[in-house]
Amino acid sequence: MTTKTRVPAIEGWFTLDDKAPTLLGSKCTSCGNFAFPKETYFCRNPGCQGREFAEAPLSRTGKVWSYTDACYEPPKPYMAADPYVPFALAAVELADEQMVVMGQVVPGVGVGDLSVGTEVELVLDTLYEDDEHEYVVWKWRPTGAPTGRVA
Ligand SMILES: [Zn+2]
Repeated sequence: MTTKTRVPAIEGWFTLDDKAPTLLGSKCTSCGNFAFPKETYFCRNPGCQGREFAEAPLSRTGKVWSYTDACYEPPKPYMAADPYVPFALAAVELADEQMVVMGQVVPGVGVGDLSVGTEVELVLDTLYEDDEHEYVVWKWRPTGAPTGRVA
């Protein structure tokens, strides 16, 4: 068995710490408004003129705010597993920032296992692989759920 290099599917959006992966957002240095993905130009707070942002590790836990079933393969450039396996998508309100972040739900957890308010935590999972790399993305996992391949 060869060891592939694990790389983030999207550079700079999250840490590759298996034990405590963390999304990397931004925080406006003027008003404290959080953003994910990172804000680089203008603060999203309409009442703020802020133009400077600090990198901000975001909450690793949150509650499901909305969810849906991705029964059909998303169009390119989305990269999906082949053969395509349906998965659940969840919009999660982060515990501290009260900001909503979308993500896939770990394999084995479907919409029937979710409800609004379900507590979830951030984990890492492989999105796809090539001969040399494993491309890793963040996913949401119901807190304490036994399913999902988590390192
Ligand atoms: Zn601001």
